[in-house]
Amino acid sequence: MKLIEGFRDKDICAALIKQIEKEATGRYRFMEVCGSHTMAIARFGIKSILPENIELVSGPGCPVCVTPQCEIDGIFKLVEQGAVITTFGDMMKVPGSQGQNLQELKSAGADIRIVFSPLDAIKVAKETGKETVFIGIGFETTAPAVAAVALSAKQQGVKNVSVTPYNKTMPEVLGILLDDENLNIQGFVCPGHVTVVTGTSLYTPMAEHGMAAVITGFEPVDVLTSVLEMVRQVNSGKFEVKNMYGRVVSEKGNEKAQNILNTVYEKAGCWWRGIGWIDNSGLAFRPEYKEYDAFHKFGISLEGEKETPGCRCGEVLKGYIKASDCPLFGSACTPESPVGPCMVSSEGACAAVYKYGE
Ligand code: SF4
Repeated sequence: MKLIEGFRDKDICAALIKQIEKEATGRYRFMEVCGSHTMAIARFGIKSILPENIELVSGPGCPVCVTPQCEIDGIFKLVEQGAVITTFGDMMKVPGSQGQNLQELKSAGADIRIVFSPLDAIKVAKETGKETVFIGIGFETTAPAVAAVALSAKQQGVKNVSVTPYNKTMPEVLGILLDDENLNIQGFVCPGHVTVVTGTSLYTPMAEHGMAAVITGFEPVDVLTSVLEMVRQVNSGKFEVKNMYGRVVSEKGNEKAQNILNTVYEKAGCWWRGIGWIDNSGLAFRPEYKEYDAFHKFGISLEGEKETPGCRCGEVLKGYIKASDCPLFGSACTPESPVGPCMVSSEGACAAVYKYGE
């Protein structure tokens, strides 16, 4: 607790703000690529204490937000086929293209259970004896725990459990952002949790593209320190990957988690909400683990991505528009009645603005 308090220290934050104001002599636009950063920035009011010439925008870093409609609809097909669905709670309110969500299907009698660990799916499979699917979404942060379902089920000989192959990886989407001429970003607050697993090398292309890349934590001092570092890199024109989250992030990352990923998965293309198809940005089961691929098991194929009418999540996730620029924001689309995933997820850019303001 004392450690956390230090990273929320008002005097340190005030000194950092003062220094940022002193050194930020131009205009700056930085993107955070992590839903937890989006929420931390909103919760601690970071935007309101930064000088007006520094803009922070949210990128495609919230797992629920980037899960495309076709993948959400794939879950509904599994329900139709009678699978027991196990999932984290943040998926329960994401609407399918027919308008219903998992919460409503559960109320109507479908066996859909919120679990706290992917491995709980194995317990449910053993208890019920029914085909049980874990909805595996997220980036490199959660992918090893999802992969562990297949590993553990294989070791235990459990046959009636499987996983949706929805995990995505960061380097490829970051590459898309770097190539986007409309992006107008000078630096990235790199996703701290992802980097714990991957290590720091995936951000090298950012520095090579002339953009600041700072890995940081989720407390006010972390975020403000990263902003100051990005301002300094932009001012100097010398760009590098800076690890300011050394208390948990190492250069090589978590090699054990990387080994689990490489054992179970191989790279594959996948759809991203609002961005489209990105080659090699997803994780597909290797042939030895294919029996744990829910779609392989149930014979389901995903149709191509189709946008939710009226929802502008794609533009929000690329930093083109603010959440409040969406005409549905706060009227047709609220956390109680979300139209798009950016309003559903507790880490969504629209939900953050709705809860805490711009
Ligand atoms: Fe989509 Fe709602 Fe956000 Fe608009 S406010 S972009 S409809 S999630």
